[in-house]
Amino acid sequence: MSRSSRLSGFYRLGIAERRARLNHAGSFAAIDPGGLPLEAADGMIENVIGTYALPFAVAVNFVVDGAEVLVPMAIEEPSVVAASSNAARMARPAGFSTTCTAPVMIGQIQVTQIRDVDAAAAALREATPELLAAARALVPRLAERGGGPVGFEPRILARSGVDGGVVVAHLHVDCRDAMGANLVNTLCEALADRVAAIAKGEPGLRILSNLTDGRLVTVRCFASDANLAPNDGVDVDGVEVRKAIAQASRFAELDPYRACTHNKGIMNGLDAVLLATGQDWRAVEAGAHAFAARSGTYKPLAVWHEADGGLAGELTMPLAVGTVGGALHVHPGARLALALAGAGTADKLAAVAAAAGLATNFAALRALATEGIQRGHMALHARSLARAAGATGDLVDRVAAALAAGGDVKAERAREVLAQLAKELP
Ligand code: NAD
Repeated sequence: MSRSSRLSGFYRLGIAERRARLNHAGSFAAIDPGGLPLEAADGMIENVIGTYALPFAVAVNFVVDGAEVLVPMAIEEPSVVAASSNAARMARPAGFSTTCTAPVMIGQIQVTQIRDVDAAAAALREATPELLAAARALVPRLAERGGGPVGFEPRILARSGVDGGVVVAHLHVDCRDAMGANLVNTLCEALADRVAAIAKGEPGLRILSNLTDGRLVTVRCFASDANLAPNDGVDVDGVEVRKAIAQASRFAELDPYRACTHNKGIMNGLDAVLLATGQDWRAVEAGAHAFAARSGTYKPLAVWHEADGGLAGELTMPLAVGTVGGALHVHPGARLALALAGAGTADKLAAVAAAAGLATNFAALRALATEGIQRGHMALHARSLARAAGATGDLVDRVAAALAAGGDVKAERAREVLAQLAKELP
């Protein structure tokens, strides 16, 4: 693995040169062509007629929790890899820093037709030690790894109605490096009859919840005003960019229509990492949007605010990922992606994926903000060019409007437009 993720000019290289530059110990043959042998695909899902490939890339410049990281991405959308690499470069001096909660997933056991839901909830609370011990006995290996069932909580959902009194019992399971859906489902299946008997009701569904709000990741980054300024020769001040991005973030906080698109920008980078690393991205998507709406109003998952001399961003979201289990044991491309990212544990993978999500959000906001600023600057610039060309009175606005409409805001064009308009004057 290369020591630095700052691979300047990486995008200009050919594919073979890029592979050589990554200095990866493993073989890239695993992803030729598409990372998945037909036989493996046939064993993964039903009715297989082939495999379906996506471009596989690495985003560069990332520093996550002090480590240089190459971020693997599989995605069909152009610009996501470039935009996240660019955002990571802007945030590089401080890098991305992350914190993860323990990887606790929630299993739900539904019980219906309960006469007295208060008594049922009380009985289930009292039986918690017994139920947790039974659950732990079913997953001794997980407990040996430091995980296993850690909590049990009855919730009253209905006192009466078509289904009678309804209680759902939540089983909290620390899944360590597994995403955990199968693990949790198995435990819920095993406990359901006992839980229903204690609650004096009928057992209903027993399944994982994808609203994994007990398994959260937070990622933060900072970009200085100097790094925020565009580096393409456009005269836009970093302070203006910082203010415009903070304003765009407040827009998302005020409006679900904007928050949805803001969050889509996060999922651009995040989903690309999840796809490359063989994760259940539908589970993460479902959890992310349910979490975004937990207050009753859909909100942005990441917010940006002005900080001393720059811009600070912070993303918090549920992120159930695994570095064992699922499709990983059969997908060589996914294993290669995990190795490239240096993600040996679920926490590390969550940190890298979340950093990629914050980076694509950052890149999108900066593009929108600088475009807005640039447009404003161009309008002002067009007016001053109109004046410099000799326009006065109404003609200033008319020349400026013609320059802006043509997208050619230059002195020469201002003189031409003014001459043309002067000819048309009565
Ligand atoms: P899994 O069934 O492969 O179980 C993980 C296994 O890894 C366990 O047997 C565990 O003992 C073992 N393991 C080895 N080392 C471990 C470590 N360090 N930490 C933790 N476990 C370790 O996979 P899973 O994670 O239980 O389930 C994930 C799969 O379930 C995904 O493919 C997902 O698509 C699917 N799924 C999702 C849903 C949902 O999201 N609603 C529902 C059902 C299934």
